[in-house]
Amino acid sequence: MEKKGFDQKLASWLRGRNGTDELSTCVIVVAFILVVVNIFVRSLVLTIISGVLIVYALFRMTSKNLEARENENGVFTEFIGPVRPWLRNPAQAMGEARAYKHLKCPECGQRVRVPRGKGKIRVRCPQCNMKFDARS
Ligand SMILES: [Zn+2]
Repeated sequence: MEKKGFDQKLASWLRGRNGTDELSTCVIVVAFILVVVNIFVRSLVLTIISGVLIVYALFRMTSKNLEARENENGVFTEFIGPVRPWLRNPAQAMGEARAYKHLKCPECGQRVRVPRGKGKIRVRCPQCNMKFDARS
C-alpha cells in the first residue's frame, strides 16, 4: 500500500459518515466515567457495559446511515432538552447559567431567558406576548 494515499483513503473513508453528535458525545462521556469508576470497583459488569458503550459510540460515529443516526440523535436531544447546551459547550453553558435565568411562560410554556440580578421584572413571552412578573 502506498504511504501517500493513506491520508486520502482516510479522508474518503470518513466522508459521508456521521461523526460526533450529542448522543455519541454523551455515550463516550458515560463510558469514560464507567472506566474511571471501574478502576476502583473492578467489576466485570462495568467492563462489559463500558465496552459496549464505546463500541456503540464508534458505530454511530462511523455509520453511513446518516438519516437513522440523525433520528436517534433527535430523539435523544429532545429527551435531554435543557441539558443539551451542557453537552455541546459546558464552559459557555456555565456562563449562560450565571448570567441568565430561564423562565417558563405560564400561558404557553415557552422558555424565556432573562438577565439575572435585576430584581422584580416584567417579562413578555416572545411566543404568545403574555406578560408576567418574575424575580430575576
Ligand atoms: Zn407564552
